Amino acid sequence: MNKINWNFNNTYFNLPNIFRENIKPTPVKKPELVLFNKDLSSDLNLDFSKVSNKELSELFSGNSLPEGSNSIAQAYAGHQFGHFTMLGDGRAVLIGEHLSKDSKRYDIQFKGSGKTTFSRNGDGRAALGPMLREYIISEAMNGLRIQTTRSLAVVKTGEDVVRETSLPGAILTRVASSHIRVGTFQYIAARERKNELDILLNYVIDRHYPDIKNSKNKAIDLLINVMEKQINLVVNWMRVGFIHGVMNTDNMSISGETIDYGPCAFMDTYDPKTVFSSIDQMGRYAYCNQPVITKWNLSRFAECLIPFIDNDQDKAIELATKIINSFEKKYEEKWLNMMRNKLGLFGVDEKDKFLILDLLTWMHQKKADYTNTFCHLMNENINEDKDYEDKDFQSWKIRWNERLKNNNNIPEKYLKLMKTVNPLIIPRNHKVEEALEQAEKNNLKPITQLVEILKDPYTQRGNILDYQIPSNSDEKYQTFCGT
Ligand code: AMP
Ligand code: MG
Repeated sequence: MNKINWNFNNTYFNLPNIFRENIKPTPVKKPELVLFNKDLSSDLNLDFSKVSNKELSELFSGNSLPEGSNSIAQAYAGHQFGHFTMLGDGRAVLIGEHLSKDSKRYDIQFKGSGKTTFSRNGDGRAALGPMLREYIISEAMNGLRIQTTRSLAVVKTGEDVVRETSLPGAILTRVASSHIRVGTFQYIAARERKNELDILLNYVIDRHYPDIKNSKNKAIDLLINVMEKQINLVVNWMRVGFIHGVMNTDNMSISGETIDYGPCAFMDTYDPKTVFSSIDQMGRYAYCNQPVITKWNLSRFAECLIPFIDNDQDKAIELATKIINSFEKKYEEKWLNMMRNKLGLFGVDEKDKFLILDLLTWMHQKKADYTNTFCHLMNENINEDKDYEDKDFQSWKIRWNERLKNNNNIPEKYLKLMKTVNPLIIPRNHKVEEALEQAEKNNLKPITQLVEILKDPYTQRGNILDYQIPSNSDEKYQTFCGT
């Protein structure tokens, strides 16, 4: 299969044994390709055009590994809902790091590929629904221009997995700039061997933050850089109403990509307390808590770095704390600017925060749709404009129009800005469910169409209205951890 152009260069495989287990995917009975991401394969400089569907199924199930791959399961730990646990790839293997044209490095990982030494009580497998769901949402995030792992393929295994019922099994091929997590640092730090932590620290800097390679205090600079990436990420989630659902430290990527699409979903009606995950009873990972949790996770990351920040532990803690405590100010600044963009506001006015919060409060009180309210403000109306005749909204709009006039802001200019940050389409929960339901019945048309539409969520075209309308069901949408 060398016609595909794989270009493996597996550096994680060369790290000491404690970082990983060398393990092959467990072969599956009857692999059958369900989805394949042609655009992504070209971005990766891979060419599958001469490969039959049967060969693709064998490849993306892990039944036949490409030449140059060294498959491993990665070790990591993590705080799950606040509790520290030893984890690791319990149902995934990294088959290698592929270098694309510009020498950009991508992890190629199979999720659902069988048991590993880290499987604990799990079966190492994944069900079709959750793998297709990860495919849809991760590709939607990419369309929304939000940093994310990508999905290259989904293959049915021809084997059932036992959950509450028996479900069709599947494997997702996930592509990421790496799978190194806050939890990877926690795992190594917990071993209390400074040389191992040093290896990880330098590996991560080489791979993701080469600009700080020669800096005086690499650990501090790494913390600052990762914090910056994570703030940008969570601000983007807030921008589009994305709720990750399970922001455990093992699900926070050091590269700043959104990772692990389990119980995630997009908010429709604006409510800061929105939670979709059935297991998140306390709302730890609710929409409005995401920034606070990001800071909490970064604090866990900072703790791992202490031995490298300063030889004097007290001084190291003081330095790290100072950085962690700058989170709120940095977040608020970026969040305000993001919201200004959503409203088409140029420049800074001291009253901007009130203008923004008053709109959000109105949306909350009136149970307005988050995405569609911004569409309305861009004159992209979606059928339900009676909501916006409300007098409070109208008086808010007068203030907004006044503020828009600052900095010679003309409609052409502010609409252009707004259209780059306010999506017309998000993966509506009922649309995702409908697509998954049909796919399980072997009808791939709805999922293919949904994925296609979500590639370009910012551009108006004729056929998107059906994807913009919120669900008319009052039933609370619930998601489940992706197993
Ligand atoms: P997640 O909730 O997907 O982030 O997974 C948390 C941990 O549980 C990770 O270490 C996974 O590898 C592991 N895990 C999840 N599902 C399974 C499964 N079916 N078999 C083995 N390990 C699993
Ligand atoms: Mg995870």
